[in-house]
Amino acid sequence: MMLTDLTLIAARDGLRAKRFSARELTAAHIAAAEALNPLLNAFITLTPESALAQADAADAALARGDAGPLAGLPLAIKDLFCTEGVRTTAGSRMLADFIPPYESTVTANLLRDGAVFLGKANLDEFAMGSSNMTSAFGAVQNPWRRAGDAAPLVPGGSSGGSAAAVAARLALGATGTDTGGSIRQPAAFCGLAGIKPTYGRCSRYGIVAFASSLDQAGPIARSVADCAALLGAMAGFDAKDSTSADRPVPDYVAACGRSLRGLRIGVPREYRAPGMAAEIETLWETGKAWLREAGAEIVDVSLPHTKYGLATYYIVAPAEASSNLARYDGVRFGLRETGEDLTEMYERTRAAGFGAEVRRRILIGTYVLSAGYYDAYYLRAQQVRALILRDFTEAFATVDAILTPTAPSAAFAQGEKMDDPVAMYLNDIFTVPASMAGVPAMSVPAGLDARGLPLGLQVIGRPFDEAGVFAVASAIERAAGFADVPAVRAGAVP
Ligand code: GLN
Repeated sequence: MMLTDLTLIAARDGLRAKRFSARELTAAHIAAAEALNPLLNAFITLTPESALAQADAADAALARGDAGPLAGLPLAIKDLFCTEGVRTTAGSRMLADFIPPYESTVTANLLRDGAVFLGKANLDEFAMGSSNMTSAFGAVQNPWRRAGDAAPLVPGGSSGGSAAAVAARLALGATGTDTGGSIRQPAAFCGLAGIKPTYGRCSRYGIVAFASSLDQAGPIARSVADCAALLGAMAGFDAKDSTSADRPVPDYVAACGRSLRGLRIGVPREYRAPGMAAEIETLWETGKAWLREAGAEIVDVSLPHTKYGLATYYIVAPAEASSNLARYDGVRFGLRETGEDLTEMYERTRAAGFGAEVRRRILIGTYVLSAGYYDAYYLRAQQVRALILRDFTEAFATVDAILTPTAPSAAFAQGEKMDDPVAMYLNDIFTVPASMAGVPAMSVPAGLDARGLPLGLQVIGRPFDEAGVFAVASAIERAAGFADVPAVRAGAVP
């Protein structure tokens, strides 16, 4: 077995047992990334020198016996997290040369625990998208291929570089962010586990803002326990984010093997999408059977406002984005184009800096916030958002967790859905309700479709019950026994 094939937990144990060094582990991942990144484009920036220096520091700490919980484990960091002294682009021309003078809290927490950063992972521009096609640094390829078909597929988005890097064995795990599905959908498309924790669980400090009332950081990794180990490091109260929750972070890894006996799992009848593949329906049924066998009781629940989830998300998220992205005006951050006067400088800078999808979001957001339309769109959407949350609150009065598919399809081909934004937005139909409600939700790889592509199931939990989500997700993981690997990966001939 190659070092790059280990799970994060197995690599941690191997380091502690001195079976290999952090330098060897990191060097193996750097070699894999250097070999495959030209094809996959999973990383915008690779930082091999600082990664090896961090690995050496981890080896020294391991030798001294005071190593942190993630010492020497190589990760990919979504290029939306500010990293001190390392270019942070948000996948945009606007920030192509932005070098943050400070570190985000989540990445600082990972560094505190000894993690090694291999580089900055590609993403949809400003995290807006479901395909990683909107990055100013080029599309990312999914390491998976349809059986007998070499056509490049999308890795999902917006954390597509993070997911592609982990699936192709270029990193043991990655950070992602999820505003409406950007951790869960790419995890599902790439055969990985990924969790969006409760809003407030991870600090947003130093994460380039998209829609601040929805944005949450979380991990993507090859196993549920790997995600648990990463989230344990990433989460925690931070005075620098006023929405950060001041609550103890439980031992998530310990929650992974927990029995489901006596748990009630809800299945919402409204989670159906037009044109959803029959095999996703079948997989959902299989998921219910697995949970029953693990001792849980399956109950029907109703989340009646689910049908408004997508429509309200695509009002609230662009509204907040239009406000957050107002700061990119050429004055203080990033790109500046010259103009005859201030207005022309603004216009030229924003026209040159933002891609088509980001512009579309700014236009939609500005429209729904403008006088005369505010009440009809933004205010209504906020009211419906409260109803979506109420649906979940009522469901969680009778069930401990909720099981749904993660996405209505498997990975699609690059270029598909590009001329129809609504078709693209439909990817998020099962992920946005949990985002609107702020509750934790995880995607677990559960099987393959008829063409050999991974499909995920989603577990949604009560606010701050990530431990419960990990328990249910790991039961699915055990029952599914998902062990398939993508065609393009470290050690395989691309
Ligand atoms: N696909 C969704 C969007 O485009 C979600 C993105 C995200 O979660 N960052 O807005």
